[in-house]
Amino acid sequence: MSRLLLWGIPVTAVAVLVGVNAGWRWVFAPLLALVLLRFSLASLRVLVTDAKDLADEGGAAPVSPDERTLFWCEECGTEVLLVFRGTARAPSHCGQRMNERTEMLN
Ligand SMILES: [Zn+2]
Repeated sequence: MSRLLLWGIPVTAVAVLVGVNAGWRWVFAPLLALVLLRFSLASLRVLVTDAKDLADEGGAAPVSPDERTLFWCEECGTEVLLVFRGTARAPSHCGQRMNERTEMLN
């Protein structure tokens, strides 16, 4: 016998018993809470998965001495010199992604 059938019949019987005798809010409120909890946990799990993908992006590597990479902010003009590349994504400044400029030396 499948697990759903094994648990489904007694749980449904108890739910109907509680619903008829004590009111259906005692059945639907915990069900709603369970759905919200599962949705919240699933949303958080997505964030953890995203962070793992970033960490696996190849690992941090020092920038080659033959090139000079600058990130500059279009909004305020701030420039950042890249020494160690952690991810392929550009850093953010003033609420937007910075622009990358790579110069070859020698
Ligand atoms: Zn800025």
